[in-house]
Amino acid sequence: MHELSLMGDVLDLVRRDAEARGFAEVTQVRLLVGALSNALPDALEMAFDMYKADGAAMLAREAGLTMELQPARASCVLCGLEYEPEQHAAAAMCPVCRFPSGRITGGEEFRVISYEGR
Ligand SMILES: [Zn+2]
Repeated sequence: MHELSLMGDVLDLVRRDAEARGFAEVTQVRLLVGALSNALPDALEMAFDMYKADGAAMLAREAGLTMELQPARASCVLCGLEYEPEQHAAAAMCPVCRFPSGRITGGEEFRVISYEGR
């Protein structure tokens, strides 16, 4: 489950920033999770709970994880159509041209939007 190490990296980043700001604990973490980022929200949630149970990363007992899901987007280089591609397709198939001419323009992001602490 690579979400475990992914979440470990996220919480490490948050902890370092929270420490620098003089926070005692982190109460809320907000993530942007792209549909094509290869990170599964359920697995991320599970990983978050595991780290929290371990008392890792300064997470408060009631700390929560919020995920904003970013849909997959592609733009066809031939006809210019913007559409939602099939997930995890190497080259997105344009529904009009019937050709793998889509360039992925959204859904690959995975990052921390914000966090709260005190
Ligand atoms: Zn097209």
